[in-house]
Amino acid sequence: MSDTHSDVRVRAAEGGYDVVVVGGGAAGLSVALVLARACRRVAVVDAGQPRNAPAAHLRGFLTRDGVPPGELLAAGRAELRGYGVDLLDGLVDRIVPVPNAGGPAFDVHPADGRALRARRVVVATGLRDGLPELPGLAERWGRDVLHCPYCHGYEVRDRPLGVLGTDPGSVGQALLLRQWSADVVLLAHTLDISADDRARLGARGVRVVGGEVARVAVVDDRLNGVELADGSAVPCEALFLAPHLVARDAPLFGLDCDRDAQGWVVTDRTGRTGVPGVWAVGNLADPRAQVITAAGAGSAAAIALNHDLVDEDTERALAAVTADSTSSTAAVAAPAR
Ligand SMILES: Cc1cc2nc3c(=O)[nH]c(=O)nc-3n(C[C@H](O)[C@H](O)[C@H](O)COP(=O)(O)OP(=O)(O)OC[C@H]3O[C@@H](n4cnc5c(N)ncnc54)[C@H](O)[C@@H]3O)c2cc1C
Repeated sequence: MSDTHSDVRVRAAEGGYDVVVVGGGAAGLSVALVLARACRRVAVVDAGQPRNAPAAHLRGFLTRDGVPPGELLAAGRAELRGYGVDLLDGLVDRIVPVPNAGGPAFDVHPADGRALRARRVVVATGLRDGLPELPGLAERWGRDVLHCPYCHGYEVRDRPLGVLGTDPGSVGQALLLRQWSADVVLLAHTLDISADDRARLGARGVRVVGGEVARVAVVDDRLNGVELADGSAVPCEALFLAPHLVARDAPLFGLDCDRDAQGWVVTDRTGRTGVPGVWAVGNLADPRAQVITAAGAGSAAAIALNHDLVDEDTERALAAVTADSTSSTAAVAAPAR
């Protein structure tokens, strides 16, 4: 259970947060844990739709291999509650810089609640996988329509595997999958495959089948192949594809963060963006991150962010001491009347 907005409003009204984290997947929760343990006041606002939700099991996370993805996040939230982190359900639609706050400050606006004030914000909202529009395909996503052999390859090893050709990366994906199965077919679909690539695929025993795929075929709730536009069938037990990755970056609109040529937010190695006080971590900033690396990036960001706050606290304290000593010197120096 998360806190209600009114519970949090009371605490926030007592002086705001050091950090509000937007997005409560592995990256965001990890940020919050490390910051809470640094005795920072932290809130997490999360829309509750982690990228790997369609999968039944989380793979490749040391000590958690095979757990349902939601179980990892539920355990993380329980740990955060123990440290007094405020956990809010909701979709943040904008983050607005607060002017003249004596340092970076932001109002984080959930779509259906009052704004939360914070000295720093971390955006960890992940990405969305855009899938090709083929009948039946979206329903199988994360089950037997897959993208990542490191997440799912072991479970489908030695089985007949299909790769949907959509872009030049599909050739590399087919060659990669050859590590998990000797029975791999690249379905050319919308991809033009060069003679060189055909030679490389052939050398590794990857078959190429021409023609567009019309739909995926499912029997007894299991993928059993694809049907081509000409009506022929190609059997496979799992179909791999390269989704179109779309950053879930709406909360960053209006913050003027730098973007790379593909439109992804640019950060340093700790997740710090070019906008003072704004961090971006996990799949939002690194589409290749696995769950364990997203969590690791969150931890690194939290440590850098805490140092940034310590620096600001020190500057403020120094300014206060200097102002104090200036006013007492002025009082001593003032002539007696
Ligand atoms: C089908 C599938 C299976 C996968 N299996 C594995 C696997 O077995 N092992 C592995 O290591 N990786 C796996 N991955 C990759 C894994 O999903 C990512 O590495 C991981 O989710 C990245 O974590 P994150 O915290 O960056 O983002 P996410 O986990 O996506 O979390 C982001 C959170 O932010 C929330 N959010 C988004 N926008 C907003 C907003 N505006 N306001 C508030 N909250 C918002 C989302 O609802 C979500 O809860 C898989 C991916 C897919 C698609």
